[in-house]
Amino acid sequence: MSDALALLKEVFGYFAFRDRQRDIIEHVAGGGDCLVLMPTGGGKSLCYQLPALLRKRAGHGVGIVVSPLIALMQDQVAALSELGVNAAYLNSTLSSAEAAEIERALLRGELDLLYVAPERLLTPRFLGLLERARIGLFAIDEAHCVSQWGHDFRPEYIQLSVLHEQFPDVPRIALTATADAVTRDEIIHRLALDDAQVFVSSFDRPNIRYRIVEKDNARTQLLAFIRAEHGRPDGKGGIEHDAGVVYCLSRRKVEETAEWLASQGINALPYHAGLDAGVRQMNQQRFLREEGIVIVATIAFGMGIDKPDVRFVAHLDLPKSVEGYYQETGRAGRDGLPANAWMAYGLGDVVQQKRMIDDSDADAVHKRVSAAKLDALLGLCETAGCRRERLLSYFGEASHPCGNCDTCLEPPATCDGTREAQMALSCVYRAAQASGVHFGATHLTDILRGQLTERVRQWQHDKLSTFGVGGQFSASQWMGIFRQLVAHGLLEVDHGGHGALLLAPAARAVLKGEVSVTLRQPPPTARRGRSKAAG
Ligand code: ADP
Ligand code: ZN
Repeated sequence: MSDALALLKEVFGYFAFRDRQRDIIEHVAGGGDCLVLMPTGGGKSLCYQLPALLRKRAGHGVGIVVSPLIALMQDQVAALSELGVNAAYLNSTLSSAEAAEIERALLRGELDLLYVAPERLLTPRFLGLLERARIGLFAIDEAHCVSQWGHDFRPEYIQLSVLHEQFPDVPRIALTATADAVTRDEIIHRLALDDAQVFVSSFDRPNIRYRIVEKDNARTQLLAFIRAEHGRPDGKGGIEHDAGVVYCLSRRKVEETAEWLASQGINALPYHAGLDAGVRQMNQQRFLREEGIVIVATIAFGMGIDKPDVRFVAHLDLPKSVEGYYQETGRAGRDGLPANAWMAYGLGDVVQQKRMIDDSDADAVHKRVSAAKLDALLGLCETAGCRRERLLSYFGEASHPCGNCDTCLEPPATCDGTREAQMALSCVYRAAQASGVHFGATHLTDILRGQLTERVRQWQHDKLSTFGVGGQFSASQWMGIFRQLVAHGLLEVDHGGHGALLLAPAARAVLKGEVSVTLRQPPPTARRGRSKAAG
């Protein structure tokens, strides 16, 4: 039996390694650098805790764990202490006397593991202290925080390359639960892990059922979803609901949604960075401790929150990327039991995200990467194929249709939408040509449907040849078509405008009839009105 396995049993009381744990642990214990990509709940902690203990026993010194999450540090240290491991943390919650005591223990070589926040680690004083201590390894948890493109970006993480410069002989293990190809490269590059071995576990979360619905009235759709799938009689004449997380983009929407859900009998609480710290803390605690709380939150909520029985994660707004979507939905079903990832998505979301990218202060490269990340997410939203297959392939993992996502369970009808696409595209073109400005999907839809609105009259768009050619479809169907044309890269959203649409270069071939377009819309029932419009 290997030392690693013996220690696994002796200290942690587990009898076998999971997945790649063994390879990772032996690699790091042997002094190698590595990058570990493992989904949430996969067992990353052991991948540095065990090698730290092995190296300590071999006379190498303490394992230093860099973590941005204070609550997580405290939990881990408490759990390790219970197992008889000499673990401690240094962060802003300690008094200076307590911190000094831990620093002395570090220098005396008494600690097996020391958790430290990055900003503290990087102080010249602390780095000087480390010079005088014996160090067995560095673990860099939540390594994706080094990525400028992600929403968990922490500037201090970039400076962590100093560990390699100052302690070239100490092995380093970086870990994250989310990293697409771009983020992986960035972690490797920024943390100087060029020679590190990369261990990638399967990112599949088979118990999560993915569903992306077309946004109509998102709130009502959400309520119907929660009631239908996550509510049951409580035996006392009422209804109880499962614990879940609802993500919204803005703080205001978080508050409004939480209030509204509460008024509908759901135990919903808001969470966002703008709330009073006490309220935020209390809502989080209630979510963790009580049954059946639905937390409505911005993405400020989530990293490091370990609640195994979250039965659903719902998105009322589009995340920024597939990574964000994966990470946020990944908070559901950590206990392995069935869970839902539900999202409502519409053209407005695409316009909003594109505008946020355009309006940001980021440089051109950053904007381009952000736009590409958004496009990959739109591809996931619009796919008629298996969502899971698409999601996993984004992380470089091959798989098969899963049978546990909406598109597998109810394959969406697709149809040749070339004619509809041509109508929409030529309407965009003619309206802009006639008026010298670009218009948004709502107005374009009015033109296509032959609606004599005030705006249509004002611009004399009833004179356009495309006026009224699309009366057979409802307004929401046309919005769905415009959304797909944007997602397919045939239309672009005007920079800095209010969702005005313009032709993308690829639209030419469609207008000329050289390329056909497959659409998920309209569903068969949508063609019903055609005879009426013609008559
Ligand atoms: P992550 O950090 O990847 O989200 P954790 O390290 O918190 O995951 O591990 C998730 C859970 O799995 C923990 O409860 C942990 O104790 C357990 N676990 C990890 N490795 C093993 C193993 N080899 N055998 C049994 N349980 C394990
Ligand atoms: Zn599927």
